[in-house]
Amino acid sequence: MSEPLVIIGNGMAAAKLCEELATRALGRYAIAVVGAEPQLAYNRVLLSSVLAGDVPASDTFLKPASWWRDRGVTLRYGAAATAVDLAARTVTVADGKTLAFAKLVFATGSRAIRLPVAGAELPGVLTFRDMADVGSIAKAACRGARVVVVGGGLLGIEAAYGLAKAGARVTLIHLMDRLMERQLDARAAAMLKRAVEAKGIEVLLEVATARFIGDGHVEAVELEDGRRIAADMVVVAVGIKPNAEIGAAAGLAVNRGIVVDDQLSTSAADVFAIGECAEHRGVCYGLVEPVNEQANVLAQRLAGHSASYCGSVNATNLKVSGVHVFSAADFLGAAGTESIVFADPGIGSYRKLVIADGRLAGAVLYGDTTDALWYSELIRAGAAIEPFRETLIFGRALAERQVA
Ligand SMILES: Cc1cc2nc3c(=O)[nH]c(=O)nc-3n(C[C@H](O)[C@H](O)[C@H](O)COP(=O)(O)OP(=O)(O)OC[C@H]3O[C@@H](n4cnc5c(N)ncnc54)[C@H](O)[C@@H]3O)c2cc1C
Repeated sequence: MSEPLVIIGNGMAAAKLCEELATRALGRYAIAVVGAEPQLAYNRVLLSSVLAGDVPASDTFLKPASWWRDRGVTLRYGAAATAVDLAARTVTVADGKTLAFAKLVFATGSRAIRLPVAGAELPGVLTFRDMADVGSIAKAACRGARVVVVGGGLLGIEAAYGLAKAGARVTLIHLMDRLMERQLDARAAAMLKRAVEAKGIEVLLEVATARFIGDGHVEAVELEDGRRIAADMVVVAVGIKPNAEIGAAAGLAVNRGIVVDDQLSTSAADVFAIGECAEHRGVCYGLVEPVNEQANVLAQRLAGHSASYCGSVNATNLKVSGVHVFSAADFLGAAGTESIVFADPGIGSYRKLVIADGRLAGAVLYGDTTDALWYSELIRAGAAIEPFRETLIFGRALAERQVA
């Protein structure tokens, strides 16, 4: 008889795990997926493109309803899991149902952080995490609307771009001295700032939000330096927090996320965590590639094979039309590393490769990102670059010619 396997969360990690289990262990488990959001699992990465009007929301679903049905997966979406009883091996769902499990997987992802300032709960102050957020933002983003986006990371920039494209007058405010400081060095970030401004977005750096002002609805953002920026809507994109509370309440070890080992096991037997809710070797990832790698390893384990997850390389692409930015791993260059740099401001091109112990340890590409995947693979593989070091900065085609 199939063992009952419950997955809490119906996002990208859950979908990938079900896909992997369908190929590795079809029929071994009776899978039930509990999802808080009221629709089938969708590709969250595409939300920026939906907001920008480049992709219809209907194109974001990862699998059609028939795919889940055909593989015998029971989907319970539109109702959150509210409690887990590890001793009784049950999950309680908000709709009043209780599900029994033999094995349990937390795939609850993260949520957007709200700024801890006065006015943060005012209507019109929104976050950018799920399909419902995109609906709310798009509804308010009429032509000429004044929008302040708080946060100059990847999500904030993508939100600002989508809003500007919809005709809103957008001001992007950021606490740090450069955009995407977690992915870009100063030079690439300066190029990005110019490109974002060229999209009609005002960018203010090194400004802190003091509070949101409004009477029944947000009307302005007050900065700590006293300035006020009028706003019909504010989108806050200042970071994410793993949804780990339900795991902590059940008694699992939780730091920032639900703590897992190299087998993706939590502190309780037969209970696992993958995706953004999991903390592995002290790291909570915020990207899809680690989610997929974790789902792959866990599926192998659940299929009865041995497999280990040893961490992922952080690699990011910005999704703003005409602005090509890529960053991976050690993009700044830690002590003891060397950097190879190519810059041609005339054609808006910048490349920086960080070398450590004869291997590629990180990369920043601005302008031409066609070799991003190749550089990522070199970093992941830890490949020795000595045979083609001279041409490495010019990309795969030349480097491979050098070796040939
Ligand atoms: C706008 C946007 C753009 C992005 N762009 C990129 C990108 O370009 N590249 C990249 O690598 N990553 C990107 N990401 C990040 C990527 O989407 C996430 O890394 C990925 O979705 C994480 O998958 P997950 O399954 O862990 O979490 P999620 O996809 O968030 O899924 C978790 C699901 O669990 C549900 N849930 C939470 N608690 C409960 C509960 N108690 N009961 C039931 N269900 C629950 C949530 O509602 C959610 O549906 C982007 C994210 C956003 C928001």
